[in-house]
Amino acid sequence: SKKSGRNTMYFFNSSMRNEADKYMELTSAMRTGLAEGHFQVYYQPILDVALQRFTRCEALCRWISPDRGFISPGEFIPVAEQSGLILELGSWLSKQVFACYHTLNSNGYDINFSLNRSPLEFNSIPHTEQFIQSRIQSGIPAEKITLEITESLLMSDNNIKSRNFNALKQEQLNFSIDDFGTGYSAINYLRKYPVESLKIDKSFISEMGVSGQADTLVKVIIQMAKTLEISVVAEGVETREQYEALKKMDCDYIQGFYFAKPMPKEDFLQFIAEHEKE
Ligand code: C2E
Ligand code: CA
Ligand code: CA
Ligand code: CA
Repeated sequence: SKKSGRNTMYFFNSSMRNEADKYMELTSAMRTGLAEGHFQVYYQPILDVALQRFTRCEALCRWISPDRGFISPGEFIPVAEQSGLILELGSWLSKQVFACYHTLNSNGYDINFSLNRSPLEFNSIPHTEQFIQSRIQSGIPAEKITLEITESLLMSDNNIKSRNFNALKQEQLNFSIDDFGTGYSAINYLRKYPVESLKIDKSFISEMGVSGQADTLVKVIIQMAKTLEISVVAEGVETREQYEALKKMDCDYIQGFYFAKPMPKEDFLQFIAEHEKE
């Protein structure tokens, strides 16, 4: 009837308004949070299986708001991408990461740092050039930095993207394909965009030992990567069984709660110090 139609309209508009309000509100709260220093970078150690040492880590952003509490990146990263704030966040994050590298380095450790790069960052030439300059000024060897990007980003090809990719590649920065296996996996993009590593998505890892298909897939991905001379990181490893199985499959690097959760810089420094002393 006309009446229920009107009601539907009303609810539709009101929920759309709520979404828009929420988005606007979160964007301005983020801007304030960035200005007031409520963001932090956490670091998650990554084990080199052959060396049995934590030679890498992934930088993950945290927003700890005094009035909202802990807000997960799953919530604020999409807002940051939509509003463009991801550029500011990304620049801030890379400076934090460079500073952390120096702290560890002055303590005698040489760790590789992985950063997540969003599509918007990758599509901006000034942002990419600024990143390159910032890395040069920091004096950190480029081969100690890895940029994590998704396969969907590489598949939606354009000139700006390939220009940025080539510029970063020329600087000797490393690339890793994040969440590997969840996209289209039309791996022919690897010819245009060669990468150093790929990260098997945690949805496959959590199915290991449960679904035979997941075990087979993980094995096949590792073998394919070996053939292409790409190293493999398994993420979301939570159990000893998963760790042992991946080790048997000759997986190069392992990241997950089984070893450590992402942690603040000070804790990360302590973690590395504890694991490096024999
Ligand atoms: P991601 O890049 O796939 O990061 C891995 C996520 O898995 C992280 O969630 C990490 O805390 C979580 N994780 C690690 N080990 C385990 C495990 O053993 N079990 C389980 N269940 N989870 C594990 P987090 O930190 O909540 O980040 C979520 C996503 O937000 C990231 O997924 C990434 O896409 C994005 N993100 C986080 N920080 C940044 C950033 O600084 N920039 C950009 N562009 N994106 C970021
Ligand atoms: Ca990642
Ligand atoms: Ca991932
Ligand atoms: Ca992910």
